[in-house]
Amino acid sequence: MTRAAPSPQPPTRHTRVTEPVVRGYAAYARRAQAWTRQYQERGGRVFCGAGCFACCNMPIRVSLAEALVTAQALTEGEAARVEAHARQVLHNARTAPSEDVYVERHRTEVGFCPLLDRESGGCTRYDVRPTRCRDTFSALPARYCEAGAWETMTRRERESYRREVARTPGTDGELHFIAPLEHLSEPIWEAAARAMRNEWGLEAWGDFWVLTTLARHEAFMDRVARGDARGAWRAAKAAGLAHATVLEIG
Ligand code: SF4
Ligand code: SF4
Repeated sequence: MTRAAPSPQPPTRHTRVTEPVVRGYAAYARRAQAWTRQYQERGGRVFCGAGCFACCNMPIRVSLAEALVTAQALTEGEAARVEAHARQVLHNARTAPSEDVYVERHRTEVGFCPLLDRESGGCTRYDVRPTRCRDTFSALPARYCEAGAWETMTRRERESYRREVARTPGTDGELHFIAPLEHLSEPIWEAAARAMRNEWGLEAWGDFWVLTTLARHEAFMDRVARGDARGAWRAAKAAGLAHATVLEIG
């Protein structure tokens, strides 16, 4: 099957969609910093830090508005690496028999985000990373964030993990991530949804690498800007980047 290649055009600006997201990122940073300060004063711990990257192989869901912010900052080389990753994401979406297998394969086979610098463990596009990369914080050591951490625990270790999570402030009682720092990002999702709806009359959500690639795809963005959800889907399909697991337009 022949597949139309995405146009290597830099994305047009779509500033009425991206600016609310960028403002949301700044507001989130202020709120998260204030919340974290109080949390730490009460003895809470945050294990995230520079060079810690075990979470950078998790699937990431974004709005097209966030993807545009990232896409507009990428070099051609970075965009090509993101697209190669997106095609692996698509392959996984088409072949995974269940959501659990999709997530597990994403972490172990699709692998780490191409924007990660494996040498330093740093995000090379920290300034334009999406919301999920901003609001994921761990109240327990990073070994619990690693792919397969839960699957490789013995029954006793799982019980110990559950007890540890239950008594750790800031968690939701089930997982070791810091729940209020996730909730604080909700205004960014809301701002993105509102901006897309106001500007385009539609919303597009999905996988981070797929949408970041599509955000640079002229035919796709042209249909989006016209509010043509079906046309946008067809453009994504022609580019080999449409699958219900990784792309929702409507
Ligand atoms: S969420 Fe986990 S892996 Fe990611 S930076 Fe925090 S501690 Fe490290
Ligand atoms: S964008 Fe940055 S923080 Fe997010 S997954 Fe990629 S490397 Fe990690």
